Amino acid sequence: MAKFEERLHAGYGQTLNIDEVLFEYRTEHQDLIIFRNESFGRVMALDGIVQTTEADEFIYHEMLTHVPLFAHGSARSVLIIGGGDGGMLREVLKHARVEAVTQVEIDASVIDMCKRYLPNHSAGAFDDPRVELVIADGVDYVRESAKTFDVIISDCTDPVGPGEVLFTSAFYEGCKRCLNPGGVFVAQNGVAFLQLDEVVTTARRLGPLFADQCFYAAAVPTYAGGIMTFAWASDTAAPRQVDVVELERRFKVSGIRTRYYNPQVHAASFALPQYILDALAAG
Ligand code: SAM
Repeated sequence: MAKFEERLHAGYGQTLNIDEVLFEYRTEHQDLIIFRNESFGRVMALDGIVQTTEADEFIYHEMLTHVPLFAHGSARSVLIIGGGDGGMLREVLKHARVEAVTQVEIDASVIDMCKRYLPNHSAGAFDDPRVELVIADGVDYVRESAKTFDVIISDCTDPVGPGEVLFTSAFYEGCKRCLNPGGVFVAQNGVAFLQLDEVVTTARRLGPLFADQCFYAAAVPTYAGGIMTFAWASDTAAPRQVDVVELERRFKVSGIRTRYYNPQVHAASFALPQYILDALAAG
């Protein structure tokens, strides 16, 4: 039995059986593999790091979309950076009040192959008339874009390879210039127990740019090592402080059905373990 060995971390990793390789290719930007695994269904990895699986993608995609969108409450325009598998786009489009979504993905091959081999991720989302798809480096897009957005979601790879620029001050400054007043920026920020330095670095770079910068979290099984942190930033604390009763009202009105997200989970996700708070306080 062939094995997929993830080595994101020097002394620790995860192994998944490769029951069948569905696609494997060195794109212009990264090594892409999509394979079938009996526990997680179809799995997509980039540069040897698990990006998404059919079995647990709902947790990550629901938490990086519904938390900022229900907190904002009236987002009309959304920007997704990365997200080539289409799962983030699928969840954003469930919000009927969202009128336009721009997705900026650096690697067209990821989109093409995920449409073909992970069809349940995008589930037709790329064909939605509200979607504008841009193939470009996200850091360039947010530096040059004339468009602004109510919610910006950075659904990027880890800060190695093409994703590295999406954790820089230049990228965060670009997102600030593209964010409407009252808007919310969120980003995947790694598994805190093993990538705590990345959380601290993000706070150091993102914090000075926004009045309200913090993190929230959820455990995604194939992001091995415990809870994944999500960076949060806004020019106001108001979206983050929406109470559960109001979140319940917005969630109910939306008619959106979820498998992980609910208003109680939303509110609780901002409660962080002490070791993360201590690391952030020590800066
Ligand atoms: N859920 C995954 C995670 O948390 O690691 C991310 C999934 S998604 C597949 C990551 C996407 O970011 C990939 O499609 C990759 O091509 C894209 N990406 C990486 N660097 C990028 C950049 N500089 N600009 C735009 N997209 C980028």
